[in-house]
Amino acid sequence: MLYGSIEAGGTKFVCAIGDEEMTIKERVSFPTTTPEETMPLVIGFFKQYQADLAGIGIGSFGPIDIHRDSATYGYITSTPKLAWQNFDFIGTMKKEFPIPISWTTDVNAAAYGEYVFGSGKGLSSVVYYTIGTGVGGGALQEGRFIEGFSHPEMGHMLVVPHPKDDFAGSCPFHGNCLEGMAAGPAIEKRLGKKGQEVAEDDSYWEIEASYIAQCAYNTTLMFSPDVIIFGGGVMKQRHMLQNVHDAFAKLVNGYVETPELSKYIVTPALEDNAGTLGCLALAREAVLHS
Ligand code: ADP
Ligand code: ZN
Repeated sequence: MLYGSIEAGGTKFVCAIGDEEMTIKERVSFPTTTPEETMPLVIGFFKQYQADLAGIGIGSFGPIDIHRDSATYGYITSTPKLAWQNFDFIGTMKKEFPIPISWTTDVNAAAYGEYVFGSGKGLSSVVYYTIGTGVGGGALQEGRFIEGFSHPEMGHMLVVPHPKDDFAGSCPFHGNCLEGMAAGPAIEKRLGKKGQEVAEDDSYWEIEASYIAQCAYNTTLMFSPDVIIFGGGVMKQRHMLQNVHDAFAKLVNGYVETPELSKYIVTPALEDNAGTLGCLALAREAVLHS
């Protein structure tokens, strides 16, 4: 029996096949252009395995419709990527693959990967953020995603500007929300170069860390989770973690006693595999419960 994984991101679709042991057998990636161009490539990839394919897990960029009783369940909804607005993702896949398909956000899928196999393994409450082209967050309690009328949009929480930061923020909706202040494009707008080109000893990283610390602070007070995991391209600046811990401790100011910070505010154990492994595990769950 095989499982399929689709990590549908804003720049690329990463598709993978895994076996019962959740070992990745093959992984490919296709550029995210239009559904007309991208989906035939995705479908073609999984068709090679159709005889043994038991289920598929999809983690998609959003916003997406996650309500099973909604007429547009399985759709990408009001995304700024116009070609993908109101795209019936599950319907398109189900037509070709009439098997169980699990459906959640890209960040929830990565959160699930870390929960099952990574930094959240064995814990009951896990919050995961990605700080990359955008900022997204997902929260899990006893293996279930926390959601209500929709999935969380924690990346757009409000943050207090750092005193040395006069950047107005780059979020088209909120200006200086967390994503507007701390995502990769915000770094590039401020400094005129990409995050990966900014030196480790640049004083900017203290400002970046202050926003991530505020995110951890808000998350702690809202959920008191067992662990908060920060992944995504910007977190490749691993040295920031110490700054995040220090700034977080100052903000909390002794109000709550959290787990030891080196185990509480961490980076993903699975690195870039969190999303793929999460989708595979969600595909396995969908088959188990079908
Ligand atoms: P995406 O969010 O598109 O899925 P990533 O998580 O890789 O992809 O995030 C991409 C963003 O992260 C870009 O803005 C990029 O400049 C930034 N980034 C990538 N690597 C680094 C790095 N080593 N240090 C700081 N920023 C980085
Ligand atoms: Zn915002």
